[in-house]
Amino acid sequence: MGSVGAKDVPVLLSPEGLRVDGRRVNELRPIKITAGALKHADGSAFVEWGQNKVMAAVYGPREVHPRHLQQNTKAVIQCKYNMAAFSVDERKRPGLDRRSQEISKVIAEAFESVVFAEEFPRTSIDIYIEVLQANAGTRCAGLVAASVALADAGIPMADLLPAVAVGKAGGAIILDLKKEEDNFGEADLPMALVPQSGRLVLLQMEGHMTRDELATALDLGVQGCRGIYEVMKQALRDRYSVAPAAEAGA
Ligand code: UDP
Repeated sequence: MGSVGAKDVPVLLSPEGLRVDGRRVNELRPIKITAGALKHADGSAFVEWGQNKVMAAVYGPREVHPRHLQQNTKAVIQCKYNMAAFSVDERKRPGLDRRSQEISKVIAEAFESVVFAEEFPRTSIDIYIEVLQANAGTRCAGLVAASVALADAGIPMADLLPAVAVGKAGGAIILDLKKEEDNFGEADLPMALVPQSGRLVLLQMEGHMTRDELATALDLGVQGCRGIYEVMKQALRDRYSVAPAAEAGA
């Protein structure tokens, strides 16, 4: 977080209970999902979520590279999360760093819980996540984009994986942190939910909150994920539903 003078710290919660962008504590930023945004990928999705813009592309099941990662009983799920140099205010150094490696790993592990990988032994399912514009919550936006892209690629899965960060800022438990809340708030807790089972398949936390606050935050996150789930399903319906006239062969 670094040392910041008090005058630089924004008011994270007004006396009326409004956040830096005017949202209530339990409100999501506007979210728009376009399934099948790329022509050359097997599956793809573009997510615009607040000021985040994230593209996901999925390839596979296909041959495993590098070869030594191949598994005889199931597909290996590989994820590459990348943040473009121009995606943030201060130019990010391009290329792999520890943060993007960590995010790639936790996202791949989350999908291992829902993808029916044993149906495709000795293959790889490759997920590419490109963050074009970032304003906190990009790993969650990446998960959402990748879920829709996997479904768009026809990869069999138990469920989609909606994801959102909850946290604490200005003393309140809040849903879907934006940059100022992530930077100056007290806690940040990204999570991903399997909606049909209620299982959490990604849960990370930075900062401090009490046990009761954590319980409240988890409930808020689950509610948020359920809202995002509806937008994800609608994006797939929009891509694959056939207009009645077309169905009739008109
Ligand atoms: N960020 C940045 N430069 C970086 C990494 C992150 O400006 O090199 C910003 C970016 O807006 C990102 C936010 O910090 O969304 C929070 O990053 P975090 O590591 O918490 O991951 P995220 O919330 O994006 O999943």
